[in-house]
Amino acid sequence: MNVIAYAARAYESDAFDRFADELGITLTRVPQNLSLDNAHLAKGFEGVTILSACDAGAPVLEILAAGGTRFVAARTAGYNNIDAAAARRLGIRFSNADYSPNSVADFAVMLILMSIRKAKTIIARNNAQDYTIVGAQGREMRNLTIGIVGTGRIGAATAKNLSGFDACLIGYDVVPNPALKELVTYVPFEELLAESDVISLHAPLTATTRHLINADTIRKMKDGAIVVNCARGELIDTEALIEAIEEKKISAAALDVLENERGIFHADHRDEILKHRQLAILRAFPNVVVTTHNAFFTDQAVCDMVEVGLRSLASFVRTGASPWEIKA
Ligand code: NAD
Repeated sequence: MNVIAYAARAYESDAFDRFADELGITLTRVPQNLSLDNAHLAKGFEGVTILSACDAGAPVLEILAAGGTRFVAARTAGYNNIDAAAARRLGIRFSNADYSPNSVADFAVMLILMSIRKAKTIIARNNAQDYTIVGAQGREMRNLTIGIVGTGRIGAATAKNLSGFDACLIGYDVVPNPALKELVTYVPFEELLAESDVISLHAPLTATTRHLINADTIRKMKDGAIVVNCARGELIDTEALIEAIEEKKISAAALDVLENERGIFHADHRDEILKHRQLAILRAFPNVVVTTHNAFFTDQAVCDMVEVGLRSLASFVRTGASPWEIKA
């Protein structure tokens, strides 16, 4: 069976070799992200696998469908880059990858700790040989209420990680997770906003979650709340966040994802003038940590992503079904 992998990264190479061999897949690798410019390369490939930086909007899917593609497997958990309605209209079935949630959950805990312990300030001072500590006083997890928004695979793993710190954990989800009954107290969203010292976002990007954190919801937060986002940049209205940080309503933020990050994160722009003013502003704030969509990036997760992506396509092509298919 022939599969084309877009956005094939060098770090995925060993896993691609291993699982393509195991599954009897002849793999064509394209390092570039799927886009209107290179969608024609998929002509004749029934199965296509992509990452979240790929454009799988309607115009691209139309080219894929015309070339004979029937299955698209995201090697990522998020699949908001796939136009689901267009895929269904074109008869393309698609799946995502349920890779190690601990990759992101561990990172979220790191960002929470960096925020409450003022790590950016400590490191910046160190770099300038300023070894003073005044102004870098932190807070302890056990004294904090941490609100987890979205308690699926990653939110649940984050809650399990955080439980070791004795923090008070509250959660909000449209479908509460029964496995968390001992760890998390579910509350309405507004209560989570009002009670949390730290809000950690783990909901997917959908029409309802876009700008879930906005001027109105920020107003309902505790003064000095901290926002951590390891989900999708569009969950936060970035302009509203910047204003709230300037007004000191929000005391710190840690963002692994950012609105309009596509084309910026995961690439070297050293010699360029970047057209992303919000990124420049956020990076300049001493109380904001920006990481570059790194949370997933562990040895385990990369191996899982490639394995699930290829297994899903093999399953689609051989049996007409995939355990990872997105049907909703
Ligand atoms: P999941 O589907 O297991 O969990 C998502 C949870 O969010 C579900 O329980 C769902 O009911 C809940 N949810 C849906 N709409 C909601 C809403 N309006 N309010 C509150 N909760 C809502 O997904 P997951 O594997 O835990 O991943 C969560 C998200 O994390 C992904 O969709 C992706 O966007 C993001 N992610 C980021 C990275 C990264 O590297 N930063 C890596 C993987 C995933």
